[in-house]
Amino acid sequence: MGETIRIKCSKCDYSREINIGQGMFDNRSENVIKSFEGDEKKHVSTAMESGEAWNFYRAPGFCVVCNDYYPYPVFESEAIDGGCIIGRCPKCHIAGTQVETDTAGFPGSMKCPICSGEIISETAGMWD
Ligand SMILES: [Zn+2]
Ligand SMILES: [Zn+2]
Repeated sequence: MGETIRIKCSKCDYSREINIGQGMFDNRSENVIKSFEGDEKKHVSTAMESGEAWNFYRAPGFCVVCNDYYPYPVFESEAIDGGCIIGRCPKCHIAGTQVETDTAGFPGSMKCPICSGEIISETAGMWD
């Protein structure tokens, strides 16, 4: 099961709930491949076929087009140039920027997309 985090602005009403980590079906290769699009999908599928170990999870990321935070799919494998591939914005399908996370998977420094206030994150529950 993965964890749901709630991010909220310390100054305004902005808040989002984001599923991070690994869901119940996230270790099945066909589900992992489905989480990616275009070239990323091809690279993930090729890496899996190479037989190298891989790891998949979701991490909070920021879309500069939507000006909002979403969970982004992340695929890690030695078979990938640079070691990892990040998927696209689930809404506009543009590649996003992954937010730095601490060891517990919580976002590092995030700024509110509305007012640039500091974002506070907390555990909101678990997801399958
Ligand atoms: Zn704000
Ligand atoms: Zn977007």
